[in-house]
Amino acid sequence: MNRVRVLLFNSAIGPLDYSVPAGMELPAGSVVQVPLGPRRIDGIVWDAGALDATEVEASRLRPVAARHDIPPLSAPLRRLIDWTADYYLAPPAAVARMALPSGSLLGPGRAITEYRLNGSVPVRMTPQRQKAYDALEGAQATVRELAALAEVSEGVIRSLVQSGAFEAVEVPVDRPYPRPDPDHITPVLNDEQREAATRLAQAVAAAEPTPFLLDGVTGSGKTEVYFEAVAQALRQGKQTLLLLPEIALTQPFLTRIEKRFGTTPVAWHSGLKQTERRRAWNAIITGDARIIVGARSALFLPYANLGVIIVDEAHETSFKQEDGVRYNARDVAVMRGRFEGCPVVLSSATPALESRVMAEAGRYEALTLTHRYGGAQLPRIALIDLTENPPPRGQWIAPPLIEAMRERLERGEQTLLFLNRRGYAPLTLCRNCGHRFKCPNCSAWMVDHRLSGRLACHHCGHAEPSPSACPECGESDCLVACGPGVERIADEVAAIFPQARRAIVTSDTIWSPEKAAEFVAAVEARAIDIIIGTQLVTKGYHFPDLTLVGVIDADIGLEGGDLRAGERTFQQIAQVSGRAGRAAKPGEVFLQTRHPDAPVIDALVHGDREAFYAAETQARRDANVPPFGRLAAIIISSEDHDEARDAARQTGASAPELDGFAVYGPAPAPLSLLRGRHRFRLLVHARRNVEMQRIIRQWLDPMRWPPGVRVAVDVDPYSF
Ligand code: ADP
Ligand code: ZN
Repeated sequence: MNRVRVLLFNSAIGPLDYSVPAGMELPAGSVVQVPLGPRRIDGIVWDAGALDATEVEASRLRPVAARHDIPPLSAPLRRLIDWTADYYLAPPAAVARMALPSGSLLGPGRAITEYRLNGSVPVRMTPQRQKAYDALEGAQATVRELAALAEVSEGVIRSLVQSGAFEAVEVPVDRPYPRPDPDHITPVLNDEQREAATRLAQAVAAAEPTPFLLDGVTGSGKTEVYFEAVAQALRQGKQTLLLLPEIALTQPFLTRIEKRFGTTPVAWHSGLKQTERRRAWNAIITGDARIIVGARSALFLPYANLGVIIVDEAHETSFKQEDGVRYNARDVAVMRGRFEGCPVVLSSATPALESRVMAEAGRYEALTLTHRYGGAQLPRIALIDLTENPPPRGQWIAPPLIEAMRERLERGEQTLLFLNRRGYAPLTLCRNCGHRFKCPNCSAWMVDHRLSGRLACHHCGHAEPSPSACPECGESDCLVACGPGVERIADEVAAIFPQARRAIVTSDTIWSPEKAAEFVAAVEARAIDIIIGTQLVTKGYHFPDLTLVGVIDADIGLEGGDLRAGERTFQQIAQVSGRAGRAAKPGEVFLQTRHPDAPVIDALVHGDREAFYAAETQARRDANVPPFGRLAAIIISSEDHDEARDAARQTGASAPELDGFAVYGPAPAPLSLLRGRHRFRLLVHARRNVEMQRIIRQWLDPMRWPPGVRVAVDVDPYSF
């Protein structure tokens, strides 16, 4: 009798064996439904032997119940799932579910019903119905999506449907997408660009599994270069996966792709409607979708034939997933390229140190662009030493920066002020009793958001209306905002230049592709003089009239002394500086700092990125930290403080003693209270040649934690 090993879509249950009913074909990768106790559960037929399962005698095996009508997951994708689960110490089922997101198992070719208002008014209007009715004009979506849009229950929508206010529209989810044209518009590349583009196109044509580091200064035209790799994939009828860090900002980028290839790409992100998601998923698995632009979750989808994977702004921290399966999409992309047999392009003006070291070691192939396209110059970077040139009390913009802004206003040019802090002020305290507003769920201050009139926690989302009196001493008029956020800088700008038109750019103001497009259009139409933004504005924008960048606090990232503090500060400031002077007009950047001698600041001012990378590489090598040594964090949490601490101590006490493998802690995690859970951390430091994951797995496997305790392993953690 035939048996198959099935990876169940339930992380709590390991793989199980089933028998194959007569007449059922079940090649590896088939997506099936199997009995589990009295229920049925979905799973994937896995390569026998790849996963250990409990041996069950043949006579006791239950048969597979059904096979879903979708193509089997390919061998390279199954390998990727195995690799990701092994490397990141995650349950294979949790990884597999990313390949088959909810709704994908319905099979191809179905239609989904959406509803839209048809103009008739229901006889009986309750306040809830009226609210939905008003909110949903022009909308068309499923019942669940309409309910979310109108902020009412699904029952309200269903009752409106029954009353005849909505009409049903069957939306087919297998409509084909228009085909992009590799030669729709072909730009003339400069010599540097052409050399890099030719090499990429060659690698795509030969299906070389080479990882490339496309390392080019801001404005050097990296996008045009990797578009040639996309064009080559299109010519061969293959797919391109283009990963972006920030999906809310993709609209200008999608437009750029449309201009180059004649049609807009297929987008994949969490904001898609169900019909769009199904349509995209069908087209991805059949190969009909040729260019797919997505957030990191797009990495695990079942592409039919990948020709190239591109990771844009590959240094971005948002490629690191921080919950569920904790993976780094940049690194997993390289593995997927290896398994699929296709090149991977990591594109960045400020590559992660890890990527630079890989390129220097010859494990990635480096392609370098040293000049801005079209003769534009990199901006001049100058320092404002705040100890010598302080802003007036209670203000944050120093006099030389104000002067430079005034010149830009007079010339009709634009200024960008950068401060990586949302809201008005990071801390509010009572002048009378010293009370500080803290999040009840996290070890974090509540951030004052004046635009929305709330205090909000940036870690768990807890928010409350801005208080008028101190909850501790009851006094009013005694609350003080401490420190600046972008909203406060915007107020300061308004006081200095009342006539200037301002825009605040943070995730609070730019939360949808439409908002991003509006912002870009306003800047391009020169309807904005001064942009005040967080790291959201450091990304990808190209504004020809923007000639001045002011960094309000260049030291902000250096506090805390994290391993990557220097690298992150360098990347952020180089990226935001890169927004200045991208076209004909030269750009200028002012860094406000209290530490003019810090090595990072020095490297930025002298435009010496090589010196920065060399010094940073040496420091990491000396400390034997990533990418030279290896790290993993084990976070042990519970709603009960002592329970978490005891579990962490017990786990730490049972750590194995091995050469090249050290365990530090437990210590309170950087956010020692998060969403109501107390968190302790053990840090594993291992030499490169030590099989860290295997040791951690063996060590943690037999551990028994109380039911309230959660344990998460973070391999290659980002901050610690
Ligand atoms: P990067 O991604 O390296 O910062 P971009 O690819 O965004 O740079 O290019 C910067 C600007 O120069 C863009 O407006 C782009 O359209 C333009 N550009 C770059 N290369 C070319 C080219 N070969 N022909 C025409 N325009 C180009
Ligand atoms: Zn919180």
